[in-house]
Amino acid sequence: MPARQVAFQKNFPIIYTMMKTGGIVLRKEKLSDRLLHLSIYTEKMGKINALTKVELKNFPLSTESFSISQFTLKITGEKIEIIDAKLLKHNFPENLPRYKYLNAIAKYVINFTGGGPDKRIFNLISFYMNIKKNFLLALTMFLIKLTYFEGLFPVLDKCVICNSKNIKGFSIENGGVVCEKCIKNTSIPWNRKLTKEAQLLLKTSFYSVSSCKIGNIKRIKNTFEKHLSYRNGM
Ligand SMILES: [Zn+2]
Repeated sequence: MPARQVAFQKNFPIIYTMMKTGGIVLRKEKLSDRLLHLSIYTEKMGKINALTKVELKNFPLSTESFSISQFTLKITGEKIEIIDAKLLKHNFPENLPRYKYLNAIAKYVINFTGGGPDKRIFNLISFYMNIKKNFLLALTMFLIKLTYFEGLFPVLDKCVICNSKNIKGFSIENGGVVCEKCIKNTSIPWNRKLTKEAQLLLKTSFYSVSSCKIGNIKRIKNTFEKHLSYRNGM
């Protein structure tokens, strides 16, 4: 702890608040033998970074990556400390593909969410962290729905520049599809079929989507990734 902070604490009472909230562990890092850093998406505060002094031994999975837990937080200014964590549901990956999938979901949340808490996003993460098959489809659907909830859904039904319906490409800079006349060499190839599929994936729930062509799914996922990265200054 820096010396200035210690001196400050000796002379003034430390003001802090306690809060209980549900949270999903996105990432866990060991800073030392006795200190953990956790990135968590919480119900009440949205995305937070918190410290905890030791692994909470009574509930060993409660601070693991991808676990959903009830956290008791001590908030002192900018600093958030986990005092207690009770496991509600663990999502311990049983194989490498599922680990990669859960890690990708966590990365999307870390990179692409901002602002305050959003119950819809909390529920979206909880639901998609529970998926155990069709990871490419699930990841793409998660990304599309997250884009919508973040208020960053691209214009897909007409040219974002001139309103023409003759869709030929997707412009990352302009945040939507472009027509034959407005397309540039930096645009990603796009068509009406991809628009229809992306809109379907937004409106449909995971378990009711049956068939989608894998090639198209990858194109949609990569485009939405680029779209969100650009809008988040990455
Ligand atoms: Zn146009």
